[in-house]
Amino acid sequence: MSASSRPLLVTALAVVSLLPAPKPDAQTAQPPSINVDTGQLMRDVVVLAADEMEGRRAGTPGGAKARAYILQRFKEIGLPPLGESYEQPFTFSGRGDAPLTSGTNLLGVVKGTTRADRFIVVTAHYDHVGVRSGQVFNGADDNATGVAALMAIAGHFLKHPPETSLLIAALDAEERGVQGARALLASDRIRTDAIVMNVNIDMIGRDAANVLYASGTYHYPALKPFLQGIAQPPVELRLGHDVPGTKVEDWTSDSDHAVFHGAGIPFIYFGVEDFENHHTVTDDAATIQREFFAGAVRTIIVALEGFAEGMK
Ligand SMILES: [Zn+2]
Repeated sequence: MSASSRPLLVTALAVVSLLPAPKPDAQTAQPPSINVDTGQLMRDVVVLAADEMEGRRAGTPGGAKARAYILQRFKEIGLPPLGESYEQPFTFSGRGDAPLTSGTNLLGVVKGTTRADRFIVVTAHYDHVGVRSGQVFNGADDNATGVAALMAIAGHFLKHPPETSLLIAALDAEERGVQGARALLASDRIRTDAIVMNVNIDMIGRDAANVLYASGTYHYPALKPFLQGIAQPPVELRLGHDVPGTKVEDWTSDSDHAVFHGAGIPFIYFGVEDFENHHTVTDDAATIQREFFAGAVRTIIVALEGFAEGMK
């Protein structure tokens, strides 16, 4: 601060002291509110879950169309690619005698201010199950919502740079056996030992009781404090669905985070309880709960702010 600015500061403080004191209530314990563009989140979901995307099955023209849209959005946001290119093409073998299928991950990076060479990998799969018996499975919440969240997260952290780098990964072929996550960890695009943790987002657009789960702290209890007191209205954040051998569903193996967990990399998975539209033709954009969805994205951003500061 320069000497000449001091009198101004004193004046400002004097003015502030005349204002009524803030009410001492529970609200002061709330995390700062985060701005996200709810309209843009919904536009991304509507585009990705449109019939023209033909259910975004890996290796299909519909999947390629979805990829082109995500790529265009990455560029609009100003998200730089990881290394030379956004695209990470890979192949995998389907069930039975099916020939090799191709998939392509899209990788962008928000560079960390103090630990540029350390990465929190933020994942959301963009593929879905395609067309079955002539009916398009749009996969609005599985997982157009997660991909829309990726864009909002990238946009936020480009404006408010994190200390640890964020690898923003829109993964392909999750529905075919978490193939995109496998391909990413097997590739030379990122060294496994440079990955601090994985934050996976898959289905965050609706819940009748406004409950969002953060799953994984059973395996990685050191992550618990980062998730306390961060829920953004109307979201209620609960921990769980990660304990093996109980009556409550264990989601540890259910999405891309399983691959990171298998490699010994800590993860937190954000998602909702199964809903009746899941993997049916009725998982459409019109059924997304706009306010809950935006609250879930803001909650995940607050969690990431903590992880990016505290995970090294
Ligand atoms: Zn999914």
